[in-house]
Amino acid sequence: MLEALKEEVLAANLKLEEHNLVTFTWGNVSGIDRESGRIVIKPSGVDYSELTADKLVVLNEDGDILEGSLKPSSDTPTHLYLYKAFPAIGGIVHTHSRWATSWAQSGRDIPALGTTHADYFESAVPCTREMYEEEIVKDYEYHTGKVIAETFQNEPYEQNPGVLVHSHGPFCWGTDALNALHNAVVLETVAEMAYHSLMLNKQLSPIDRVLHDKHFYRKHGANAYYGQT
Ligand SMILES: [Zn+2]
Repeated sequence: MLEALKEEVLAANLKLEEHNLVTFTWGNVSGIDRESGRIVIKPSGVDYSELTADKLVVLNEDGDILEGSLKPSSDTPTHLYLYKAFPAIGGIVHTHSRWATSWAQSGRDIPALGTTHADYFESAVPCTREMYEEEIVKDYEYHTGKVIAETFQNEPYEQNPGVLVHSHGPFCWGTDALNALHNAVVLETVAEMAYHSLMLNKQLSPIDRVLHDKHFYRKHGANAYYGQT
């Protein structure tokens, strides 16, 4: 079932290690087939070196296991919530990558300080609010998805493909699993560069809005012209 999607989700999971985004098994990638509403996700706690396409878990949008003998990632309810809340996305990546997680732990949005950020994110990368005790105690992973969706109530999730969950770490999304992985690598890079930029100049202001828009909209939207047609 969904063999092509499994191969893509497998490739994206393996790239987490390649891009140095994960320590041990602290990361997971999923992808969705929008036609059937089925989701392919990494099994919980399986080492990337032992991960194969047949170990991936296929779920329906309610989280029922349709295929696979292993338990799905413990973050599955977050992925399910985001696929419902963000209908245009096709893949999700969660990691505890060090630079993005440093910002998440500090509870700070990552300000847009340069064109690398502006090429991918239309605004600062937002950090969610802290979760309430009752959200943590019961259905924690579901509420993690909910607090992310709440953060994007007034912000277009298609134009800001990532978030920092307060005290936790980044979730990124994209048109498919590999695109979400790409955005996770970009977020980690941007997080590291923003940290260093602010260390070099503590008074640094965000990038000029005209320059930000130039970089964002030459790559995204109706008037994009970057790359090959
Ligand atoms: Zn996590």
